[in-house]
Amino acid sequence: MNEYDSELVRSLLISGGFVLTSDRVRADVILMNTCAIRENAHTKVYTHLSDLRALKRQRPLVVGVLGCMAQNLKEELTNKEPLVDVLAGPDSYRQLPKLIAEAIEAQEQGLRLKGSAVDLSEYETYDDVIPQRRDGVNAWIAVMRGCDNFCSFCVVPYTRGRERSREPEGILAEARLVVAQGFKQITLLGQNVNSYRSGDWDFARLLVAVADVPGIERVRFTSPHPKDFPPALVDAVSSHPKVCKHIHLPAQSGNDRILGLMNRTYSREAYLELVDRIRAVNQDIVLTTDIIAGFCSETDAEFADTYRLLAEVRYHAAFIFKYSERKHTIAARKFADDVPEAVKSERVTALVDLQREISRERNRAYIGSILPVLVEGDAKRSSQQGMGKTDGNITVVWAKACVPGHPGEILNLSIYDSSASTLYATASY
Ligand code: SF4
Repeated sequence: MNEYDSELVRSLLISGGFVLTSDRVRADVILMNTCAIRENAHTKVYTHLSDLRALKRQRPLVVGVLGCMAQNLKEELTNKEPLVDVLAGPDSYRQLPKLIAEAIEAQEQGLRLKGSAVDLSEYETYDDVIPQRRDGVNAWIAVMRGCDNFCSFCVVPYTRGRERSREPEGILAEARLVVAQGFKQITLLGQNVNSYRSGDWDFARLLVAVADVPGIERVRFTSPHPKDFPPALVDAVSSHPKVCKHIHLPAQSGNDRILGLMNRTYSREAYLELVDRIRAVNQDIVLTTDIIAGFCSETDAEFADTYRLLAEVRYHAAFIFKYSERKHTIAARKFADDVPEAVKSERVTALVDLQREISRERNRAYIGSILPVLVEGDAKRSSQQGMGKTDGNITVVWAKACVPGHPGEILNLSIYDSSASTLYATASY
């Protein structure tokens, strides 16, 4: 969502007369679009800010913090961080050109002005703003913003406000536009994407309508909540040829008491029933998840339930994190963050080790098969290798000397080896 928001900001700034540069030495204005969801992201922003201190001492420079951290830590950033000139929360990006212009003008007059716009909106969806996209293969399209779920660990309802969905007509027009621009894949975005609703349109209907846009090769969506999975949505994923056979199904915990404290609104049993229902419809759908280890008061036995959940579901991949308290959340206000750091780390390590073994086995099962792979570009480790994704979102790497391929092309590749995270492929003859 932050990448998409950066595309919106680029578009709004260009319309406001600004010119973009990725060269920080030449920039008059440096903006950081921030995430507040985990401690790591928070630390990164403060590291970047301290890097900018020296630059700002040498010449006039406007520094802005955008996004969830601006929203959640506005007092801290306004009162204690002299470096920051502009703050804009996720619903206030339309005000950015004005805030920046005022900050530049103030600096020219030798003044310091801190401009901030952090009001949350019940209506802002940026429906009329066409994002300035860079990536040429995948286009993100936000279909809804905000979240009403108030999971107790999560800061999103406070930084991004309440749920609001875009009109389907605007989304479909944007989908047709990105296809005309040459994008091959669309990823529909929302904090709680499958709670999308506009009139009598629900998410399943929207997903099928986007996948029916002529010329699109693949449609993905992220992130869904397990509570909003009607049969029509499972059927759309299972049977529409353009909807990718991948569902990210955040579990967060495998223990009912912890799920209750997290306010996830489903039980372990209900979650497992959903997994069974998805696999009964289509066994080939790749399932991935998010897990939080060491949530407030989680005992060893409760953690063991999460460990067993991973072993039972056997996800293709899992994003596993230590619980870190976020300011203003229900958990921060009501529960003690009382699981020692060492215990949280041990639990994460145990889950990561288990998941790595499961992912390794799952990926090994693809050896010998031929899979359609959407080429994204060069592999991270070497420009001699191409990299793409299967329909199930598994990374595939191959030697370009053997199969050139170009971004956006779908190649049928033969899988000859695998690791826990990657499939290795060659040409299929
Ligand atoms: S569903 Fe829960 S975890 Fe996801 S954005 Fe909403 S409050 Fe946060």
